[in-house]
Amino acid sequence: MSLENREFLQEIMRKEIKDRKIPISLGKTCPVKCTFCYEMDHSYRQTFDMPLTTQEDWDFILNEIIAFPTRATESWVLGGNEYMEWTDLALHPKAMEWIEEFLEKTDKNIIMFSVGYFDPKRINRLAEKYPGRINFELSVITLGAYRKQLMPKGPSVNQVLEVLDGPAVTSANFYSFGPGTMSEDAKTIAKINKNCLMWMGTLTPLKYIDEKTTTLMRQGKRFLADESQKIYDMNLTNVQMIHTESDITSFLNRNKIIKTFDACELDKKDWVVMAGNVHRVLHMFRRGRARFLYVPNDTLGGDSDCTTLLTFSDVAKRITNQRVIHLPRVIMEKSSNDERDISGVSFDDFKERFPRVRFKVLNKVNSDLSNKKLYEKGYLKNYVEDYLQNPLSKKFEAVAHPN
Ligand code: SF4
Repeated sequence: MSLENREFLQEIMRKEIKDRKIPISLGKTCPVKCTFCYEMDHSYRQTFDMPLTTQEDWDFILNEIIAFPTRATESWVLGGNEYMEWTDLALHPKAMEWIEEFLEKTDKNIIMFSVGYFDPKRINRLAEKYPGRINFELSVITLGAYRKQLMPKGPSVNQVLEVLDGPAVTSANFYSFGPGTMSEDAKTIAKINKNCLMWMGTLTPLKYIDEKTTTLMRQGKRFLADESQKIYDMNLTNVQMIHTESDITSFLNRNKIIKTFDACELDKKDWVVMAGNVHRVLHMFRRGRARFLYVPNDTLGGDSDCTTLLTFSDVAKRITNQRVIHLPRVIMEKSSNDERDISGVSFDDFKERFPRVRFKVLNKVNSDLSNKKLYEKGYLKNYVEDYLQNPLSKKFEAVAHPN
């Protein structure tokens, strides 16, 4: 490799490291080929083709990371790069060895995401040796009959169960795909591992997800209530969260949303941007207090319905004759340094497209609110008790989105 090329690759690695990522690469697209993979379309961010990480690269990565100060609340991420395509990094032949070296030579924490390709014995042994330092989020997805369809090249159920059997896995995510899916998985997982957090819900079809997978995801949503009620009745000791449903999250947090809306002190003539999830809440509880500019999540498409994931291009499609438009800060917080949406478009470029419109930013509607505060009510218990058992939720579901 030429010196120039090497310097370029190191520059990309440095960028990842600055964001607390551990930039290992498989040197190819992800071989697991999950049909639900949200990384199928990563055109919203710039990525580079990185070759398979070598020992020399790893030495460089580790030395760079060591130079960073350690913060107790901070974890270094394995499996969520910004400038490299996501893959399951457990598949790198040296992944295990390097994770061990990371834990040995630094005092930093690590957070890793995988569908479970780690050697079960080794990963559990590491978790015992370095208690509290590993945060392992295992993407179980489903252990049932739909597994073959969704993860044709995923690890076997036995492999996943072996990984789960021990202290390594801190959270396991799995979803409803129909009757006896999420609830059966919850039962199986809880039997093997009483400590891991259960992260459940449904997967949302986006526009590039194939039809068969989309149908399955929608079936999962139809049975989410039944599946959740069954798990609720099991009284499991694991912490159980339902956290993938933007409309449910909005309903459960309706009071916070209403309070934040009131604090924005909008006039009833003011136009304010929101996606369907927040629109339903405000339509029910604050109708007529402002003009709601409903914006569908066109960029992501499919069934997505979330204000946090709106883009400027989505908003642009809905602008007609408005003179002043209020925008939630949350849609321009892709990075902390500058104002960009999730697709990377800057607020300044967007404003230039509409010289006759004045955009005002609602600073109170920010990611701090959506990420942290809204998590507080993300428990399965909240969903069952305050959504399924609350007659108001039926009215909420019946609110149609405007044309
Ligand atoms: S393992 Fe992860 S990155 Fe790879 S295809 Fe599956 S979901 Fe996508």
